[in-house]
Amino acid sequence: MSETPLQPSDRVASVPESGIRRFFEVAAEMDNVVSLGVGEPDFATPYRAREAAIDSLQRGRTSYTANKGMVELRERIADHVTRYDLNYDPDEEIIVTAGASEAIDATFRALVNPGDSVAIAQPAYVSYEPGVRFAGGEPLPVETRAEDEFVLTRERLEAAGAQEAELLVYCYPNNPTGATMTEDELREVAAFCREHDIAVMADEIYAALTYEGDHTSIATLPGMRERTVVFNGFSKAYAMTGMRLGYALAPAHVVESINRIHQYTMLSAPTTAQHAAIEALDNCEPDVEEMCTQYDRRRNFVLARLDEMGIDCFEATGAFYVFPESPWPDAGEFAEALLQAEQVAVVPGDAFGTGGEGHLRMSYASSMDDLRTAMDRIERFLE
Ligand code: PMP
Repeated sequence: MSETPLQPSDRVASVPESGIRRFFEVAAEMDNVVSLGVGEPDFATPYRAREAAIDSLQRGRTSYTANKGMVELRERIADHVTRYDLNYDPDEEIIVTAGASEAIDATFRALVNPGDSVAIAQPAYVSYEPGVRFAGGEPLPVETRAEDEFVLTRERLEAAGAQEAELLVYCYPNNPTGATMTEDELREVAAFCREHDIAVMADEIYAALTYEGDHTSIATLPGMRERTVVFNGFSKAYAMTGMRLGYALAPAHVVESINRIHQYTMLSAPTTAQHAAIEALDNCEPDVEEMCTQYDRRRNFVLARLDEMGIDCFEATGAFYVFPESPWPDAGEFAEALLQAEQVAVVPGDAFGTGGEGHLRMSYASSMDDLRTAMDRIERFLE
């Protein structure tokens, strides 16, 4: 007999603790650490959005909203996503959630049957694989490679056996690599999904942080809208991580299924954050542009410094990450030694699954001063 009846379920026990978390618990206990490890903006939420949140509180707007989110917000989201040529009906095809995280989790549970194979383009954001397992599905890693600049290709999908998958989940602009995909590259993935009747979950949370060319959504390609769920949110572009607000765009019957879970588990996304988000969409575009300009400047700085140090790194064109090759064959050992010797925290690439081995994820969502210090210390460490 076990000591306590409070035992984790087999499903939970099968999912390991996040590799990133463990690393940062060590870093958190050290002094003088410059962290390039965090995946969140260093900017505060734009002032006007914060003011709108405060105003909503002062007016006592603190009750639940409609399950799928305030109509005014869904209407603005519908309008906002037209910039990516996405057209969704605010009443039936948009659901506002507690971060993109909730939307992604609920979508796995809404679409995946026990034993379903879910292809995950890797290296990947760390939540997909656990999300698939919590939903009872079988994750199928699809490795993307440095030599392809970490884009998803038909060849890589076939090599992984993704023909057999029911669902494909990917993220571009990508966390952790900073890779983006062009429309032509996405066409190849779209054709593969149509041929093998695979549904797609496209995590586009970094869409606004695309530094070269325009972001393309796979849902705009022929025959893809009906088989795709698109995710986006306010955490990254609007620096609203703590407000916990995201959304999914999908055909009405899929939004209905996601909402079946959401209405029982969440009821509605945070109300204060929804008020902030309306203001963000109405009036904070200049703030987003300014943050993008800053990220782009930092991106160029970090890429140039890595290049000067002789560290190989492909030119990441989105999100706020670069994914250089580790100067040592074992990226985990390098990250550990760098942290101990120079107090710079970076994340070993294998924390993001297959394809990440031998790489490091560095976030440039840090001030220029911190980035300069970090690069100086890395340079000193290598010498
Ligand atoms: N997708 C990706 C690729 C992310 O990097 C993150 C945040 N780290 C999320 C989703 C979750 O975002 P949210 O704060 O909206 O839940």
